[in-house]
Formats: sequence, C-alpha cells, structure tokens
Amino acid sequence: MHDTIKEQYQAVIGLEIHIQLLTDSKMFSSDKTEYGALPNTNLSPITLACPGTLPRVNKKAFDHAIKMGLACESAITELNSFARKSYFYPDLPKGFQITQDTTPICRGGFVAIDSKDGGKKNISLIRMHLEEDTGKSLHGIVEDITLLDYNRAGTPLIELVTAPEITTGEEAYLFLSEIRKLVRYLDICDGNMEEASLRCDANISVMAKGATLFGTRVEVKNMNSMRNVQLAIAYEIDRQVALLETGEPVIAETRNFQAASGETCSLRAKETVDDYRYFPEPDIPPVLITKEWIESIKTTMPPLPSALFKKFVSIYGLSDYAAAVLTEGKALALFFDAICQYTTYYTSAANWLLGPVKGYLNEMSITLSEFPLTANHLALLVELVESGAVGFSVAANQIFPMLLQQPEESPMTIAQRLHLIQDSDESNLRSLISEVLAAYPDKVEAYKNGKKGLLGMFMGEIMKNSQGRAHSQLTNKLLQEALEG
Ligand code: ADP
Ligand code: MG
Repeated sequence: MHDTIKEQYQAVIGLEIHIQLLTDSKMFSSDKTEYGALPNTNLSPITLACPGTLPRVNKKAFDHAIKMGLACESAITELNSFARKSYFYPDLPKGFQITQDTTPICRGGFVAIDSKDGGKKNISLIRMHLEEDTGKSLHGIVEDITLLDYNRAGTPLIELVTAPEITTGEEAYLFLSEIRKLVRYLDICDGNMEEASLRCDANISVMAKGATLFGTRVEVKNMNSMRNVQLAIAYEIDRQVALLETGEPVIAETRNFQAASGETCSLRAKETVDDYRYFPEPDIPPVLITKEWIESIKTTMPPLPSALFKKFVSIYGLSDYAAAVLTEGKALALFFDAICQYTTYYTSAANWLLGPVKGYLNEMSITLSEFPLTANHLALLVELVESGAVGFSVAANQIFPMLLQQPEESPMTIAQRLHLIQDSDESNLRSLISEVLAAYPDKVEAYKNGKKGLLGMFMGEIMKNSQGRAHSQLTNKLLQEALEG
C-alpha cells in the first residue's frame, strides 16, 4: 500500500497477554503442571469439575501475580473473588473457566518500552487477573480426528490487558520483549512463546489520523512468536486501511494469523460479554491479600531490569547499548554487578563479559550457571590487563582459556608461569627501540618526512623482537619520543 495513504491513518493496538505461571501444581488442584507428561495423566476429578469436588486456590500463583503487579507498579486488589466464564469448547472440560471478573488482582500500572526518539514510552496496563488455562486439542496425530490432552487444563495463568496505547507492530514487539524479560527476572514464567507459556492476542483498529473515536477492533490470535505478533499487526493494519479506503466496514471479529502466508483470516464473530454469562464462582471463597502478604513478597523481589539498566549507566558509566545487552537476562546482569564489587574498571569488565565470556558460553552452549569462573576471578583478569601487566589479547587468548581449565589458580600466577607479563622496564624498552630504528634508517627518514603510518611497522618489529612482551602503551610512547627527538 502507498505510504501517502497509510499516513492518513493511525492504528490503535491493545494486547492481551497470557502468562503461564511457574508453579508445581495447578491453580485450583494439586495436579502437577509438568510439561510433556503423558497425555491426560496430570488430571484429577477437580480439574474436570466432577460433581462433589471442590477447587482450592494455589497460594504460589497469588505470590507470582503480586510480584508482577509490584514490578509494574499496579495497585493490588485486597479482596479477590473468582467468577465462572462459561463457554463450550472441546479443550475446556468443565464447560466454564474459573477466572477473575470484577476483582482483577492487579489494576493499572505500566511497562516502559524504548521509543523511537531514544527515550521511553510507558504503556499503561488496564488489569491483570488470575485464571486457569485450558487443555489442548491435538490435530493431525490421527487423521480426521482431534485428540484431547487435558494435562494443561487448570494451569495457573495471569492475563495481562494493556490500554490501547500501542501504535505499531514494532511497539508491540518491544512491549512483549519487556514482558518476557520481566517475567524471567521475576522467575514467575519461563517466557517461552514457542512453547506457548507466554501467549499474546492483539486487538487492532485504525482511524483517520487525529481522530479521537477509535475504529472497530479486530482481535488476532495464534501468533507463537514475537516476530509473528509484529507481522500480524502490520498485516492487519494494511488490511483495515485498505477496507476503509474502499468504503467497506471493518467487521468486529476474531481472526487467525497464519504464519506460512503472513496473513490473517476470519475465525469467528467476536463474542460479547453476554455470551460468557459470567457469574460468581460459588465454590471459592474470596481471597484476602493483606498488607503483610504484600510486604513479604516485596522482600523476595529481585532487582528489576530497568533499575539495573539505570545503575549500569549512571553509576558504572556504561553506554546505553552495553547496559541494555547486559540487563537482557538477570544472571548476566547480576554477574556484572558482582564483578563491579571487586574492580572499578567497569567498562573493561563489561567488555570482558560481552566479548570473551559470551563467546565462550556460546561456543560451549552453556549458560552462566555452568561458567567455571567467579566474579572475583574476572575482576582479577580485568585488573591484570588494566595494570599493564599483560595486554588484552594475551589475557583473552592465553590466560583466559588456561584459567577456565584451572579456575583454582590466579590469573597472575598463570601469567607468570607462561612468561606473559609485559616488560615495562624503560631501559629494556629503549634498547629494543634503538635496535629496530638502527635496522631501518631509511624508514626512520621517511617517518620524519611525514609517513607517520610507519609507526605501526616499528611497533610490530619491536613486539616481535620482544616475543610479544613489550608493554605496548609504554613502548608506543617511548617510540614516538625516540622518533620525534
Ligand atoms: P475482550 O475480552 O472483549 O477482548 P478485553 O477487555 O479483554 O476485552 O480486551 C480489550 C483489549 O482491546 C484491551 O487490550 C484494549 O486496550 C483493546 N482495545 C479496546 N478497544 C480497542 C480499539 N478500538 N482498538 C484497538 N484495541 C482496542
Ligand atoms: Mg479478548
């Protein structure tokens, strides 16, 4: 579609995100929540709502939701009741879902994303509520038959609903990556969209630029990656603009994203609140969240990525880029913070982590938890280089691999044993320099006549003659003095 037409419209997007909570048992029963168990084995009569059974709430799920609410600065609801949302679908064994209707556990709050102008944009949250997951319909295993696995039924979820403040597919992508980062920091969800432990539906409408009345919204489902959410939204915006341009109405409906074609297609008419016949869940008494409960959760809160980012930039003086990469995951961020307790060469410490350490983890396909060196070790390596005892490349290519093999040794001991300590004795360096200058009188002449690029060649010769041990910065300085003098 032509950009000049698109520019006459603006899109309004609100996301509904389902966050599967990491708990051992289900939201309302003691059934296990393990992933990948034999179909229909983690299933009790409670999850099936057989007559005579009584659901009971999972405290851990509440803890997780409170944590998420605190991280997003939401208000935590004191008195939490549950409701039945009725609908028929084969993967819903009870014929209703237990959810929160009028008393979502969290209200308001926000999550900040990077905005185009280099600043931050806050996306407001409307609510987060606790509910239970459905089972799974399995198509294509037996021809023409749909199989049902109810193991997932009853798994605790938070549904997070944003205000309609997102304007592009790219912003939706950024928002989802912030949510994923946050739930991983909080350890409340594994954040895996491909395995559907984090799921996203997008509500999308378009209106003329500058209008205040929102257009008709379409809900798009079935996007199993952040990239697909972005693609589906971009597709849907184009489709709706094209409809409006030809004078056709946008129909309020639920559409399905098809990853293969990158298109959305109509799934069903949008259900309305009436269709669900919400009514209070009679079997679960309201849950009171006391101030003490909230205080006790506060004591378990890890540092949040946004706070660590700020600390890394303002206290450790890192670039926004380095701080963003280091705070992508909690383990790396905390490891960096720990190294900074042992050394004040913060930027070098960051470069060590983003360079040799990340390279090693990738090469070995391991995570930081399996990395053999401590924060103290790395700080010693950083200090070894910064003190001028060894050059960075010698430290990275020779000492670091050796240290990984023998983490009980100190970097200095290894450097000494391998004779890698740089020579910073000025008289030694001066004689190395004079030897080389004497060997190349014509080049010295050329240098003096302006070919300053020859400095590298002189340095190379000196380093070679010293078996790589001449202190490079000091040699460089003395060499220039010798040439200018
Ligand atoms: P429902 O259950 O009917 O989908 P929800 O309240 O769960 O309703 O979700 C509404 C979502 O739709 C919110 O994320 C909200 O921001 C978004 N939304 C509401 N109106 C519009 C609109 N006109 N265009 C785009 N998104 C909208
Ligand atoms: Mg919805």
